[in-house]
Amino acid sequence: MHRHKLVTVIGARPQFIKASAVSRALATSRVFSEVIIHTGQHFDDNMSKVFFDELAIPAPRHNLGIGSLGHGAMTGRMLERIEQILLAERPSLVLVYGDTNSTLAGALAARKLQVPVAHVEAGLRSFNLRMPEEVNRILTDRISDLLFCPTSSAVANLRAEGFEGFPCRIHLTGDVMEDTARHFGRLAAGKATVVDRLSLRGRPFALCTLHRAENTDDAGRLASIVAALHEIARELPVVLPLHPRTAGAIRRQAIAIDLQVIEPVGYIDMVALLQAARLVLTDSGGLQKEAYFFERPCVTLRDETEWVELVQGGCNWLAGATTQGILAAYRSAAAARPDFSTKLYGGGAASSAIVAAIEDYFAADRQ
Ligand code: UDP
Repeated sequence: MHRHKLVTVIGARPQFIKASAVSRALATSRVFSEVIIHTGQHFDDNMSKVFFDELAIPAPRHNLGIGSLGHGAMTGRMLERIEQILLAERPSLVLVYGDTNSTLAGALAARKLQVPVAHVEAGLRSFNLRMPEEVNRILTDRISDLLFCPTSSAVANLRAEGFEGFPCRIHLTGDVMEDTARHFGRLAAGKATVVDRLSLRGRPFALCTLHRAENTDDAGRLASIVAALHEIARELPVVLPLHPRTAGAIRRQAIAIDLQVIEPVGYIDMVALLQAARLVLTDSGGLQKEAYFFERPCVTLRDETEWVELVQGGCNWLAGATTQGILAAYRSAAAARPDFSTKLYGGGAASSAIVAAIEDYFAADRQ
């Protein structure tokens, strides 16, 4: 039987988590073989290796080691290397995830070589072009052949931008992060995790992550967020697995932090923290949804979110970055009893829907 070679381009933590679900589904298909390129955008063991190990992602065939550079140099070097690899590998399709420089570089390299591109997590918009992620998303969507949308609002965004008139296929698949969360939610139960190591079991706490450039690179926003977290910690301890970018910003800006700061954790530990936490405070895209999957109210430390259905559904409070705004959102979230039964993200079957749509794409191609 003719097998299609797919090249997956990943490089950042959220991409490992998303791609693991699709890799698992691809491995059960007899039609596809998968080759992974790791760009090296995230490279610390606790930002990269731990996810390959825990989530059983196939080892990358190509490790580019391109990280810690400005946007232009990083994207440019990735583009050059990925193009060389695609010329050698000659895949039938390239799969890219989310909204990082690795996403854009993978899509652009493939497009220029006339290799079809599939974008997982297509159609998301913050409508804030100051975010590098928004630029990456819009450009990647525009040059993709297959657009896998996690939500109906993502489909609506593409329609509003005229994508139905473009030569691409739009699929509403649900969110692959839910597939991963469900799979590993079951595995985390009963394991000794960071929750035990930190003696958090049975003790109420809030789980916080913070890493968006718009917060870390703006001294005023970072200081007012930290002030709000200190205030919250007076009544509910705040556990903060600290992203390396934020750790750097805090050092540079000499901000004093009096919270339970820990190193970034692996995925199983993260799931255990989500299961044990009372609520979540975050500027992460992924964590907003995971809070919902594990039925925890979420305060989002941003001015807008791509996951609008969480806010509309009363599960997420958009706080901005002022101390007062965050405290008000926190009080609402702490008092709320949200309805988490609404299945906003497809229920955990997104990766099989994606694999079926890719099979369909090649079947249609042969006719
Ligand atoms: N995550 C993790 N360990 C951490 C912090 C986050 O495993 O210490 C996971 C988190 O559960 C989610 C993903 O990383 O699945 C989110 O990645 P990140 O916040 O870096 O990016 P974003 O989702 O905002 O693009």
